[in-house]
Amino acid sequence: MTIFERIILRQIPADIVFEDDELIAFRDIEPKAPVHILLVPKRHIANINELKETDTLMIGRLVLRASEIARTEGIAESGYRLVINCNRDGGQSVDHVHVHILGGRPMKWPPG
Ligand code: AMP
Repeated sequence: MTIFERIILRQIPADIVFEDDELIAFRDIEPKAPVHILLVPKRHIANINELKETDTLMIGRLVLRASEIARTEGIAESGYRLVINCNRDGGQSVDHVHVHILGGRPMKWPPG
């Protein structure tokens, strides 16, 4: 079981900012920006390589909820970045799909 599943099951604490039947969002424990939230599907999917056609609505809602959380966090107008890391070269460290919502400072491009 990944650490995110343990957060979903309330086995370990997290600073949860949003939750519904399908998704949960909590603050990253090692924030890389003034706002750094992880938005996570509750159903376990290891990475975006594993997505299926039947996941398209959920993934659409994931992006929509991310934009709503950005608005709630006050970074919608200043701007923010959504990041999904995949596997080793993508920098994925937790094998459970999640989108990083990063904002509150200017982001560099290209990423390192
Ligand atoms: P990634 O490297 O894309 O897989 O992102 C995993 C993220 O999970 C990292 O930014 C970690 O800081 C974050 N993280 C790991 N453990 C926890 C935790 N217990 N609570 C909140 N965030 C965590």
